[in-house]
Amino acid sequence: MTQTLPPLALSERMSRLGTETAFEVLARARALEARGRDVVHLEIGEPDFDTPAHVVEAGVEALRGGWTHYGPAAGQPEARAAVAEYVGRTRGVGVKPEEAVLVPGGKPVMFYALLALVERGDEVVYPNPGFPIYESMIRFCGGKPVACPLRESNGFALDPDDVIARLTPATKMVILNSPANPTGGVTGREELDRVLAALHERPDVWILSDEIYSRLLYDGEEHVSPLSDPAVRDRVILLDGFSKTYAMTGWRLGYGVMRPDLATMIGKLMINSNSCTASFTQRAGIAALTGDQTPVDRMRAEFDRRRRRIVELLNEVPGFRCHLPKGAFYVFPSIRGTGVASDALQARILEEAGVACLAGTAFGAEGEGYLRFSYAASIETIEEGIRRVRGLVESL
Ligand code: PLP
Repeated sequence: MTQTLPPLALSERMSRLGTETAFEVLARARALEARGRDVVHLEIGEPDFDTPAHVVEAGVEALRGGWTHYGPAAGQPEARAAVAEYVGRTRGVGVKPEEAVLVPGGKPVMFYALLALVERGDEVVYPNPGFPIYESMIRFCGGKPVACPLRESNGFALDPDDVIARLTPATKMVILNSPANPTGGVTGREELDRVLAALHERPDVWILSDEIYSRLLYDGEEHVSPLSDPAVRDRVILLDGFSKTYAMTGWRLGYGVMRPDLATMIGKLMINSNSCTASFTQRAGIAALTGDQTPVDRMRAEFDRRRRRIVELLNEVPGFRCHLPKGAFYVFPSIRGTGVASDALQARILEEAGVACLAGTAFGAEGEGYLRFSYAASIETIEEGIRRVRGLVESL
């Protein structure tokens, strides 16, 4: 006998929480696979490489060595020191260990920073198309999401004028993301400097700089971070982590860098939620940051090869137009020439061609007319996937 449960009376704030469609598409693809369909996965935002062997070894040794207990809420002192040294070196600025916080992934930095700073009615400017959790969390915290469009005509780089035009007396925070998900767009020094120059006049505005793809840059692009601008340094919350750089998505380890008093508050949010990030993963994280970086360079070189190949193949699909991205591991082709809406085409590509990708609208309203493909898959997988997409689009 099936029991009927009473209606689920959730808190009002739950109605404001969004989601990440990637996980839903993955579930639909898995359901098709369970029915015997062969599905090519180009939807997943995680490296298909294994975590570098010396990092795994450090994690295993840590487990054997007893790193299986609670640790300090904001991270182990050695891990905070390693993050401070790494971020300081890569962003060309001094960072103190008490400014670094280790949390279970890059995502919690977003979650905690917005919870700690955004009040009902505060405006938060965020990139659109952009990582869907920004808008979800802004709404959840009672803030007002103010979408800043990223345009294909501009190589999906942030246009400083678009940010500046959206600053109002109610702006509490600006979210930046370079290299960006889902477009692979990169914000260069000149564009960043113009945004920061406007923010010099606004000491009340925080900058959440999502730099999770900072090591995935191509064609000689350099990574620039607002952390290195002394005039805004105290208002920057830098988000980075291990998931993408070291192929460690399942370890759940990331970090934030921010002024020490805010870092203490993130520690307080950790005490109230996770207690601390797993101790052995932090030991592995120290090994990742301080050890051999050749696996990172090797992965980047392979992503670069795939980037060129997928762009070439997508540009051969009738009605598609794909720009060569400068960073991350995503391409964001325009599909306007097919005359089909993004979510309808994504569904047909999955159901009829057996290829999982994401509709541009999964990243906000500005993503209409685009699809996102991840090239964190082998060249053979990419070739098979885009061959199928082309076959379907040619039959439309
Ligand atoms: N920021 C962006 C732009 C991302 O694309 C992702 C993951 O897809 C994250 C943050 C979160 O990464 P993590 O797995 O470390 O939580």
